[in-house]
Amino acid sequence: MKVKVFIKNKDVYDLQILDETASVQDYLDAINKFIDENTNPPCRGCDECCWERIPLTSIDVLNYINQLGGALVLDNEWPLLDFLDQYTYIYAEGGAVDISLGFTQEGACHFLDQEQHICGSYTARSLVCQSFICMESTKSAQDFRSELVNTGMDELVRLWMSQCKDAGIRLFYHEEYQASPQGEDYPENGFTGKKTYKDVLLKEVCSLEVWNNIYKENSQKL
Ligand code: SF4
Ligand code: SF4
Repeated sequence: MKVKVFIKNKDVYDLQILDETASVQDYLDAINKFIDENTNPPCRGCDECCWERIPLTSIDVLNYINQLGGALVLDNEWPLLDFLDQYTYIYAEGGAVDISLGFTQEGACHFLDQEQHICGSYTARSLVCQSFICMESTKSAQDFRSELVNTGMDELVRLWMSQCKDAGIRLFYHEEYQASPQGEDYPENGFTGKKTYKDVLLKEVCSLEVWNNIYKENSQKL
């Protein structure tokens, strides 16, 4: 076990990284194990978490494209750009860009089956969907999750900008206010060139401060 998720206080969970070679997939496996083993945070299937903003990472988008296959009708030459156009919401303000899953007019995730209250893309659902536990968490666990998602989104923004350039099209937005993103603000990071969450090492996508809070040698939590 490379990552441990555990109850810290009543109804509050925390996590600890036990091995410095732990990957994002090890983190997701630990979350799933925790959910399976704890009757306390059962999912009632209410679907409320599918009506929230769902920020996306580069690997989330690759998973949706590769795993949903024929269920999506995408441009053969630029599938990532077409997915971003059809299934996400790109919001830019000044130099900052936010890419989240697209939603219906009522505000539900595109992939939610509202009648059955089930996810229509369960096997490919995003990092945010997979790492959501329906209970409170410690600040260090929250900071870690936020930083992971932000780093993955920065890589997605970098890919969007570079592919728009290669395809010879202008940057496109679903909403923007004085948008002026610059390539140098989105350098390569620990997600760059990685195709799956097994390939992304947590140590390479965390700041030192966040890492120090959750890595075993620096933590006395267990
Ligand atoms: S995890 Fe989502 S669907 Fe399950 S109980 Fe919590 S809010 Fe509802
Ligand atoms: S991808 Fe699935 S789990 Fe995630 S918000 Fe959409 S319907 Fe819900």
